[in-house]
Amino acid sequence: MSNSNLVNVTVPAYEGNYTQGRSKNIEKITIHHCAGVFTAEQIGNIFQRVGRLGSSNYGIGNDGRIGLFVDEKDTPWTDGNWDSNCKSVTIETSNSQTGGNWPVSDEALNSLIKLVADVAKRNNLGKLVKGVNLTWHKMYSATACPGDYLISKMDYICQQANLILDGENTPTDEYFAPNEEYVLDIAKCIHTSPNLGNNILPAERVDSFTKTLLASPTGNAMLKAGTEIKCLKIAKENGRIWGSYGNCWIELENEYGERQATKTDKPVEEYFLEGKTYRLLYNKCIRKTPELANNILQATNVDAFTKTLLASSYGNAMIRADVELTCLKLARENGRVWGSYGNCWVCLCNDDGTKQAIKID
Ligand SMILES: [Zn+2]
Repeated sequence: MSNSNLVNVTVPAYEGNYTQGRSKNIEKITIHHCAGVFTAEQIGNIFQRVGRLGSSNYGIGNDGRIGLFVDEKDTPWTDGNWDSNCKSVTIETSNSQTGGNWPVSDEALNSLIKLVADVAKRNNLGKLVKGVNLTWHKMYSATACPGDYLISKMDYICQQANLILDGENTPTDEYFAPNEEYVLDIAKCIHTSPNLGNNILPAERVDSFTKTLLASPTGNAMLKAGTEIKCLKIAKENGRIWGSYGNCWIELENEYGERQATKTDKPVEEYFLEGKTYRLLYNKCIRKTPELANNILQATNVDAFTKTLLASSYGNAMIRADVELTCLKLARENGRVWGSYGNCWVCLCNDDGTKQAIKID
């Protein structure tokens, strides 16, 4: 039995706060929240206290760093239920603020997803199923833990962790494919061509949109870890795999076969939200009503501002790909998602779930 390689820090729990060995096989993961904002070290320090009579295998800090406190081969005291402790690998998760629905940072949530996938893989738990092998504290004792926010994310955690598990069984050639979305695992330079070379975009050359995604305090333009990108094109060069990012390129897998990005597939309901800004991936017709019908705005009817955004040389008014829209209203119709554009509408997602725009804010 092993521990996770994703661990950033080990803070061994006091020996009186857990049981050595396990009397049952590991068959599930149990998620907890800390009911407070902590680093991985601070969570570990709590379980080092003599007389705490509590512990967990792992803990995730608010910044996403992962701590190991009790080896997986040993039984943590976390679930308030001996049978469950014996069968579970337990994970404490820092909140990003106290109270309310007990939110968790995106960094901590992403680490939780990766850790869940890793624990499931090494312990042969198979595909993760909410409430079966991916469980939470409240299922085993009278507590509000892990809070409303994490409970609302259980489907998402399952889905994303299963994508990682599927991805690891998928050959690289299939995993990195055109038109897929990825989230960067680490900060990556923006290259002007799909190869390693003296071709990194200087930070001063990026536009105001991309600036918000930059990681580098130095002159190089780098996308932050956690940035979501959609790669319309994929290129291979000297064993590396590159994904297109606008006219530029991001390394998705290095020459050692190590993936630098994870495939993501946010459900459409969570992705398209009112008041958010989207960048169009394709030229899109401007429609007077949010539906497919004989309702396309004619190019002669658009104002001077909109004309600068137009793509179509035919009579139809179309907004060019790469134009950014803030959609104050959304409408759903026959499986499509429409975003408002002034008094008009633009299709953001097709009825087969193909996104026509990528969320940038
Ligand atoms: Zn708990």
